[in-house]
Amino acid sequence: MTHDLPGWRHVYSGKVRDLYAPDDASTGSGGGGDGRAQRMLVVASDRVSAFDHVLSPDIPGKGALLTALSLWWFDRLAGGDDGRSIPNHLAEGEIPDAVAGRAMLVRSLDMQPIECVVRGYLTGSGWNEYREHGTVCGIRLESGLRNGDRLPAPIFTPAYKAPLGEHDENITFERTVELVGLERAEELRDLSLEIYERAAATAEEHGLILADTKFEFGVDEDGVLTLADEVLTSDSSRYWDAAAWAAGTTPDERMASFDKQIVRDWLAAHWDKTGEPPELPQDVVARTADRYRELLERLTD
Ligand code: ATP
Ligand code: MG
Repeated sequence: MTHDLPGWRHVYSGKVRDLYAPDDASTGSGGGGDGRAQRMLVVASDRVSAFDHVLSPDIPGKGALLTALSLWWFDRLAGGDDGRSIPNHLAEGEIPDAVAGRAMLVRSLDMQPIECVVRGYLTGSGWNEYREHGTVCGIRLESGLRNGDRLPAPIFTPAYKAPLGEHDENITFERTVELVGLERAEELRDLSLEIYERAAATAEEHGLILADTKFEFGVDEDGVLTLADEVLTSDSSRYWDAAAWAAGTTPDERMASFDKQIVRDWLAAHWDKTGEPPELPQDVVARTADRYRELLERLTD
């Protein structure tokens, strides 16, 4: 469902977010002609996706929680208390009342077709590849690692950002170079690792493990590589409880998640990934909403 927002027109819906561009017929909110970058409104819905499918029903309050988390991280990373200031896509301006709390006003960037994944711990698709081949995105790792283990050092494991409806595909660094050139690929990798390290350290101060995360970058009109999309949210990241991880022995005990793992686990147990996914039961919806809320509270006190 999209909104009827005065001054804006709906241009695109991803799995979770709806994008609006300034309505040229109106004056004000937009941008463009005066030399500023075009503005865009990114509205986070309550939709939840897993295994590249949008699920039903929605998770109440999720869009607002994702937006609050992104804004908190953008601010922290730009503030530069714990490192240099990371440029982001946020823009100044008014957000329509109808989407207040769940929308970000951003500069429209030339998006890079790469999902910049950083993993500090081994799990998910990385674990699956490791189990079969001993590698993650072509990077060979030491043998004997278990699901949920900490990696000797964080690794950059990019994915090709597939068009809507297709599956994102894990790719090697060499393939990334072919897609965006060596210089840009190195810049994406280094910046992603830098942001991950800083965020993981912050998470640790709050008793959380940032197991892995995904960034998206765009290039602005001055050619500056800029952090875009959502950042370090419970949709784009795996967060675990640090104490549970340290004390636990089974994967379930160790990976007490503040993210949509609850949804992934339930689906994996109740769906063979053919045809349409089943409706999520109410308790899965409620537990997911609770965990998203708890993450924001723990991080931001
Ligand atoms: P998923 O993230 O679940 O794989 P998706 O990427 O298809 O889904 P959403 O995240 O729901 O879609 O939609 C957000 C879209 O907006 C993405 O295509 C993202 O690349 C794009 N986007 C984010 N920030 C900017 C920006 N500053 N300029 C241009 N496009 C942006
Ligand atoms: Mg996205």
